[in-house]
Parts: sequence; C-alpha cells; structure tokens
Amino acid sequence: MGIFQPREQIQAMSGYHSPQVDVPIRLNTNESPFPPPQGWVKRLSRVAEEIQWNRYPDRSASELRRIIASRHSVSAENVFVANGSNEVLQTILLTYGGAGRTVATFEPTYQMYAQIARVTGAQVVIGERRADFTLDALEIERVMQRHSPAVSFLCNPNNPTGLVEPRENLETLLENATGIVVADEAYAEFSDWSALDMVTENRALAVTRTFSKTLSMAALRVGYVIAPQWMIADLEIAALPYHLDSFKQGATVAALEYTSEMEERVQLIKNERTRISQSLQSMGVTVWPSGANFILFRPETRDAKDVWNQLLDAGILVRDCSSWARLEGCLRVTVGTEPENSAFLNAMTHILGA
Ligand SMILES: *Cc1c(COP(=O)(O)O)cnc(C)c1O
Repeated sequence: MGIFQPREQIQAMSGYHSPQVDVPIRLNTNESPFPPPQGWVKRLSRVAEEIQWNRYPDRSASELRRIIASRHSVSAENVFVANGSNEVLQTILLTYGGAGRTVATFEPTYQMYAQIARVTGAQVVIGERRADFTLDALEIERVMQRHSPAVSFLCNPNNPTGLVEPRENLETLLENATGIVVADEAYAEFSDWSALDMVTENRALAVTRTFSKTLSMAALRVGYVIAPQWMIADLEIAALPYHLDSFKQGATVAALEYTSEMEERVQLIKNERTRISQSLQSMGVTVWPSGANFILFRPETRDAKDVWNQLLDAGILVRDCSSWARLEGCLRVTVGTEPENSAFLNAMTHILGA
C-alpha cells in the first residue's frame, strides 16, 4: 500500500457521523431546541468590530478563563478552553494517551472517547456495563487492575443511555485509577450532581463541560475542562498555539453574561423529558431513565429501523442507535420544544398503532 493511504488506525475506522438530514424537526444531536438570547446575538457584531484582526488572539485566553473560573469558584489556572469539548477530549488524549498507552471506556458510552483515542494512537480497552446499562464497581476495579489505563472516561449523565452515574462509581474509579480520570459532564445541568467539587490538586480528575447543549451555542464550538493546575499546564503544551480565535473568545465572554437566562430553560426541558418518557412508556415502549436532555428508548413491538424511517417520513429525525453494539433495537430522541415533542409523540402513537 502506498504512503498516500491513511494510517492503519484511520483506515479501520468509519468515523462518527450523525446524518444531517434536512427535516423540520431535528431531535438527533442533543442540542438545545432554543436559540441563544437575542441580546447576545445582537452584541456579536460589536464583538467583531472591537477585534484587532491583524493580530493573533490572546493565546492563553485569560479573560475567558478567568470568567469561566469564577463561574465555578476555581482559579483561571484550573481552566482550559477549546473548540468544543470534543477538542478538550482530543487534547487530553494527545497529552496523556497516544502510542503505547491504553485508554478505558465503559460501554455503551459516548463513541468519541474510543474514536479519538484510536486516532491519536492509543489502544482502547472496554469495560462492560450491565444489561440495564448501569455500571458495576467490580467491573471498574477489574478494568483498572488488569489494564492500568493512562486515561479513563466516565460520562455523567451517560450518552447515549441518559443514565446518571452514581457518585460512588466515580469514587471507585478514582481510587483504582493509575492515570487520568475524565468525568464528561456535557449534560450536567440536567442532572442532580456534578463532580466539580471533587477536583483538587492531588487528584488526577478532569471535569469537562460544553456550551453546545444547555447553553444553546453548538454553532460557536466552545467547551472547557476544570482540572488540577498541573494538568492544565500539561494540556497547554499539547494544544496548538492560538487555537481559540479572538472572535470566539469575545463571543464566549459575552455569552457568560446570559447563562442564567439559558439555565432557566433547563426546567422546561426536564418537564418535557418527563412527559415524553411517560407517554412512550404508556405506548409499551421501553424507556431508560434520563438525567440528560435526551431519552434512549426501544420500541419493543416494531423494528427500530422501520420506526426511525417512519419518523423521518413524518419530518422528524431521531438518532438511530439500533446498529450500535449493545444498543440493538434502540433509538435516542433529544428533548425539543413542546410542539416538537408533541409532534414526535403523535407520530409515535400513529406508527406503533398502525
Ligand atoms: C455533545 C457531547 C460532547 C461534545 O460537545 P462539543 O462541546 O460540542 O464538542 C461531549 N461529550 C458528550 C458526552 C456529548 O454528548
């Protein structure tokens, strides 16, 4: 094979792509269904005007890090920001993973952990969740003792199952881990606990957050990690110089004035989450309890792929997980606006009744 071919690890991969289909109701990628506050959108042109466009950005993003730090009562030296939390994960894996090292995930979970770990040359070891998708502490101990991973991921609440991870599981992981532990909290605002208060200088724990979900800014691509200062210093070595552009820094600083407005919508999403779960259950659909802004479900009486296609015919796009390992027959729906959710539930009633 010529050297114009990608590396072996890349060739073996199909990538992580949620099909973007042009339909009226998109409930497939767990974004916020609400646009960000108008006040923020209006300010963006001023943010753009004030930038010295011929100059490189503030490389350490100091103002942005300071404001994120104050939001979580930590120091700016505990914060690293990147282009989406996916880039945070990539930077962590470039720093602590890589060739000759092992990365642990507990499946089923967010697919990007294994994907980025492999792209960056590490070997992935898999811990298995129980059939109900909860995680046994003994399995955590087994994976840590057998493989001594350099990086271990725990997604809380877990995507795509929606389950909230018990705090004891993270404690068990931290007690047994030999390397870095990443608690991915992309959906923390919808959940009832966060690991942020567990971050200290003498623990190798990193907690990641994103602007893409609760904060209604998926288009902006901003995510961050709260971690011990020594870890942040390590990540900065691996990151590209000026990886955060000036506009993004300014726009994100401005966005942080509107967080309470955006967090007010969390309760709305939670109420709708309950309504969707109960309706689906009353249709005889298996529903997993969710602490996030999406719901994993399995239509027991019908083929999941058929249901997915019929929803699409009705102009509704959900995530088809039915071909993923351990998720046979499962679909995942993001909680949308009230009318979107009603359209989804009506379509489901129609599909399952037919
Ligand atoms: C959506 C998501 C992310 C990625 O978010 P970005 O900040 O948009 O890159 C990370 N982790 C989990 C579990 C997610 O579901």
